[in-house]
Order: sequence, then structure tokens, then C-alpha cells
Amino acid sequence: MRVLISGGAGFVASHLADRWIADGHDVIAVDNLITGRRANIAHLLENPAFTYIQQDICDPLQIDGRLDGVFHMASPASPFDYLAHPIETMLVNSVGTKRMLDLARAQNARYLLASTSECYGDPLEHPQRETYWGNVNPIGPRAVYDEAKRFAEAMTMSYHREYGVDTKIVRIFNTYGPRMKLDDGRVVPAFLDQALNGRPITIFGDGSQTRSFCYVSDLVDGLTRLILSEEHEPVNIGNPTELTILEFAEVIQKLVGSSCAIERQPLPKDDPKQRKPDITKAKERLGWEPGVSLADGLAATVEFFRAQQAVAG
Ligand code: UDP
Repeated sequence: MRVLISGGAGFVASHLADRWIADGHDVIAVDNLITGRRANIAHLLENPAFTYIQQDICDPLQIDGRLDGVFHMASPASPFDYLAHPIETMLVNSVGTKRMLDLARAQNARYLLASTSECYGDPLEHPQRETYWGNVNPIGPRAVYDEAKRFAEAMTMSYHREYGVDTKIVRIFNTYGPRMKLDDGRVVPAFLDQALNGRPITIFGDGSQTRSFCYVSDLVDGLTRLILSEEHEPVNIGNPTELTILEFAEVIQKLVGSSCAIERQPLPKDDPKQRKPDITKAKERLGWEPGVSLADGLAATVEFFRAQQAVAG
């Protein structure tokens, strides 16, 4: 197959590119590098199966030749990044989503939207099933991401219903692994950076809020199965092992062998109190479930961050 990956130089999308090239496909990655990094795809640039186009997908995009699939992965995704780029986040998920849908329609290609567990907002149902409509503040700071992704889902379903585009929607829960940016503000790189460098671990609020962390290769396998499936309604992909942020800080302290202090900081506005995917649908319809333990995934992530720090000197 020949697939386009928007946001192809990002954390998840670059791993997806690796997987599809390893499986024998051709990949075109498009990225404007607002939050993506050339370093994530540097090892692919000389590969004849890989093409890189540096541009904003909100602008008209010229693709020569056929396409069999479009993975729409482009968007700032960490709270730190989308709050730093609020308008770009809304545009890439609205204008950019329309452009990617038009491309898939013109090419008669499969299409996958990378949506998010943030569609559930601060969820009142726990764990979250795909049937839950969410509890989102439409004018809060996180709305630039949450509402933009909800719009993107609605637009995607409209193209499916109106034009018969072969669309899929994945709701991605917290994911971690090599190639996350140490300074992107998310809890996994933040705690690892702090623990590795002997700085206090910053817990926002009382640390009783929960998250469930999925290793990136498991997510990429879920995305691959989903785009090849006939499932048009949203599917959760995430790891259901749930931890409080305080418990997660303890895991990181043990892993890095550090006894660094804990520093409390205010809880960001609208920070979800709990999050855990119900993955029954992914299991039943895609035969998917996560296989990488938190211990193994974090060990690989630590190795990556240590190597990065060694290079940075
Ligand atoms: N968090 C924290 N300290 C940090 C960064 C994040 O306590 O330095 C908390 C944050 O308040 C949230 C959870 O960790 O409850 C996950 O945050 P992240 O930014 O990784 O992603 P989110 O799930 O909120 O999108």
C-alpha cells in the first residue's frame, strides 16, 4: 500500500511510519514541524519507500500518484503544546481534517482520524466506553484540543455518511515511549526528566487523578488493525492499567533509583480526574489488546532519554 501520514514527524506518527515501512509499504509523511521533529524521521530520509514533505496540511497539498490510505495524525497533542498553539490546534483539526478527508475521497483511500480520550473530557463514566458522549467544557483552555477533536470526529462521520469515504476514528488514550520530547510537559517525560536529573517530581494537585499508559508500539499496532478494518465508529485504543499520578511518581522513583523530592503544584484547570479505556470493542472487533508492560515500556523510554541526554552532553 501507499499511505500518507499527516504529522509524520511527530512522536506517534513517526513510529507508525517505521511500522508501515517495515511491513513493506510506501509512506509519505507531511509535517510543518510545529511540534514534530526532523530527528524522529532522520533515519528514514534516505529510504526509497519514504517521502517527506515539509508543509502545513491546512494549505493545499499536491500528491502525485495513487494513495491507498491516509492517517490523519497531525495535531499538537500535549496540553503544554496545544495551549502554546491554540489556534493552530483548532485549524489542523478543522481545516486540516477537511483537507485530509478530501484527499482520501479523491483517492478512494482508507482514512483514519487520530482522535483522543479528551473527547470524554472530565469523564463521569468510568472506565470510558465509546458510547459515552463526554463531559467537556466548551470554552475552557483545553477546549482548543477537546472540541477541535470532537469537530474532527463529526466531520469524519459526515464524509462517511455523505460521500461514503472509508473512514475510521481512533480515540487514543495516554501513550508514551521513545521520541517523546523531554520538555513537552506530559507526565511521563516530565517525571522521567526530573528523576533522571535529580530534580523534584512535580505533582499537579493532590496526585489522586488517574491515567492509564499505553506503550507506543501497542498503539501503532491498534492503528494498523483499525485502518485495515471495516469499523467506522470510534474505537478506544489504550492500556487499561490505571494508576494515580502519585502511584506513577513512585513507579518512576523506583525505576530510576532516585529518592528525589515531590513538589506540589496547582492542578491545571479542567484536568480530568480519572481516565481508563474500556477496550472491549478493540478486543472484539480488531483482536487487539496491549502487550507491553509498564515496566518494559518505561525501561525502553528511559534508555531513549538517557541516550538523548548523552548526545546533548
Ligand atoms: N501531571 C503532573 N505533573 C506534571 C505533568 C502532568 O502531575 O509535571 C499530571 C496532570 O495534571 C494530569 C496527568 O499528570 O493529571 C497527565 O497529564 P499529561 O499532561 O501527561 O496528559 P493529560 O492526560 O492530562 O492529557
